[in-house]
Amino acid sequence: MPEEMRQEEDAETFAFQAEIAQLMSLIINTFYSNKEIFLRELISNASDALDKIRYESLTDPTKLDSGKELKIDIIPNVHDRTLTLIDHGIGMTKADLINNLGTIAKSGTKAFMEALQAGADISMIGQFGVGFYSAYLVAERVTVFTKHNDDEQYCWESSAGGSFTVKVDNGEPMGRGTKIVLHLKEDQMEYIEEKRVKEIVKKHSQFIGYPITLFVEKERDKEISDDEAEDEKEEKAEKEDGEDKEEKEDGEDKPKIEDVGSDEDEDDKDKDLKKSKKKKIKEKYIDQEELNKTKPLWTRNPDDITTEEYGEFYKSLTNDWEDHLAVKHFSVEGQLEFRALLFMPRRAPFDLFENKKKKNNIKLYVRRVFIMDNCEELIPEYLNFIRGVVDSEDLPLNISREMLQQSKILKVIRKNLVKKCIELFVEMSEDKDNYKKFYEQFSKNIKLGIHEDSQNRKRLSEMLRYSSSQSGDETTSLGEYVTRMKENQKAIYYITGESKDQVANSAFVERVRKRGFEVIYMTEPIDEYCVQQLKEFDGKTLVSVTKEGLELPEDEEEKKKMEEDKAKFENLCKLMKDILDKKVEKVTVSNRLVSSPCCIVTSTYGWTANMERIMKAQALRDNSTMGYMAAKKHLEINPDHPIVETLRQKAEADKNDKAVKDLVILLFETSLLSSGFTLDDPQTHSNRIYRMIKLGLGIDDDEVVAEEPTAAPTTDEIPPLEGDDDASRMEEVD
Ligand code: ADP
Repeated sequence: MPEEMRQEEDAETFAFQAEIAQLMSLIINTFYSNKEIFLRELISNASDALDKIRYESLTDPTKLDSGKELKIDIIPNVHDRTLTLIDHGIGMTKADLINNLGTIAKSGTKAFMEALQAGADISMIGQFGVGFYSAYLVAERVTVFTKHNDDEQYCWESSAGGSFTVKVDNGEPMGRGTKIVLHLKEDQMEYIEEKRVKEIVKKHSQFIGYPITLFVEKERDKEISDDEAEDEKEEKAEKEDGEDKEEKEDGEDKPKIEDVGSDEDEDDKDKDLKKSKKKKIKEKYIDQEELNKTKPLWTRNPDDITTEEYGEFYKSLTNDWEDHLAVKHFSVEGQLEFRALLFMPRRAPFDLFENKKKKNNIKLYVRRVFIMDNCEELIPEYLNFIRGVVDSEDLPLNISREMLQQSKILKVIRKNLVKKCIELFVEMSEDKDNYKKFYEQFSKNIKLGIHEDSQNRKRLSEMLRYSSSQSGDETTSLGEYVTRMKENQKAIYYITGESKDQVANSAFVERVRKRGFEVIYMTEPIDEYCVQQLKEFDGKTLVSVTKEGLELPEDEEEKKKMEEDKAKFENLCKLMKDILDKKVEKVTVSNRLVSSPCCIVTSTYGWTANMERIMKAQALRDNSTMGYMAAKKHLEINPDHPIVETLRQKAEADKNDKAVKDLVILLFETSLLSSGFTLDDPQTHSNRIYRMIKLGLGIDDDEVVAEEPTAAPTTDEIPPLEGDDDASRMEEVD
């Protein structure tokens, strides 16, 4: 007793980090019936802890001196109303306990609560990396005993309510690992039942790579003679006393053996027994049953594996609550031998591209022994959403991370995995609906792949899908586009921009569409990067309709008209360039406009308007890049447009007409906007427009301005625009 008192005094109390406390009360108070998932989460944590010690032991076998058996035990105890999980994994140091179980919130804590508010299910908890707290779905109090090789044995305990305690544990030494005792809520007794626990483990955890053993107290018949029976009775009485004491001391769920007195049954056998002076008694014993004896799934023949089995395996591997979208199970033999099981999830994880965080997505095994789960060398970053298992026959068991980086074997495995992933994409693309689901989630990855993986660029480009001027509500592949190309068409036309509506209505697309050519709409920021690398598809160059020098196939008549227009508007182009000065590189007659008077195109190698928008939105961009990469703008005028024609006539009449100058500037600014650029000084532009409105309404300009002292700068000054020296102004996008 004095010892226990001392321990109590030593216990330190900590407050849960605010978000974690909030999460816990959400878990406790939300009405939710599918509570069983808590067991999956705790088993998954135990399995992770075993993985960690196994990995450490590969390079330092003495780490297993504190316990060689890598396993998970589950012990229900009706008497104490507890369910206990023991793993012989890596355990936690005192600092681990405090940080991992309460004081340091992960990004997933908040993300999970937000997801819950948005209608997500509590069973998704594992995906957000806060699975431990699901214990409070069924437990009113949780006690964690843990022992790490580098620290003493500690005990963590909390009944929620915002705080937890940590103290040195002087109870029975555990060697190494973690024991979690769930003090179940009164109405959660079902999780002590053998049948229920078995059912849950089978459903959620049958593919865990370590033996999970259920300890159940059972009764069996035992034959004894009368004399023995007397002895047994006495022994039992003694033993019960002793055991009670033991339980009070350390609350252990140790296997106990006891009998429960004699049992005079009336069946024939019993009568026989009586005759021979033998008695039959009930004896209590602890039955140990391994619940996950299934062979590792990837070692089995794919023909014998059902979709359900793949689904269960996938879920236990990933903590996902839904089945996978597609799977590829294969083996490679020859100079090198390995088996692999690759899954495509249904959804991108909430933090797919977060800070380039390395993901634990493909688990590496060597001859069925788990090695590590975040092996970067196994798969390129753009495929980081693929989950699965690789089991190599060739790698050495004691391989370290450093060795892996050099490993030729791994390079070959990686190459094969990429090939198989792309095969999987191709297979999926045959089913349009499924492919659509995939593409909505992972198109960014494909595009990143096109940007980064030059070897597979061509095959990946076949996976692209875009809206286009002819695709309606559907999307089209580049291959389908090519089949629709006109006879004289040599290039694939595309436009990049913010949204489908914006690009579909843009002036650039007008003529190309009118001439019957299809235009691909690229509306994701990453498209800009992707198309820069792609350059061509099926021997056809990809041509941006917003860049200079757009050449549409023309007949003789059109060529002749173009020549005439050029001559006719030569003077106007010169005058406009003089007025706009450095704001544009040059002013030319356009062949791409139909109903707009003019547009701004960009030089072949500089940024597009869309790219400039994206770059401006990147807070940490390098200002110097803005200078030389910023879109070089060419103003193109539409020779068939009445505004342009009237302007030409006015300029011809008087080169120095001030109205012409004003109108040219207004035209330029307006076409900047309609071409997808932003104005650095929208106020000056607005003032110009207001003046026009006043003019239209017949209001005397001077008079009104005089009454409005806050009016903006005079209109003669052209405001600085995009790409000017002043690049520090930023625009918020997306
Ligand atoms: P996750 O396991 O997804 O990281 P959890 O909330 O389930 O999130 O667990 C938090 C952390 O606590 C784990 O990352 C791990 O470091 C530690 N932990 C949980 N259970 C165990 C265990 N059985 N053995 C060792 N460490 C554990």
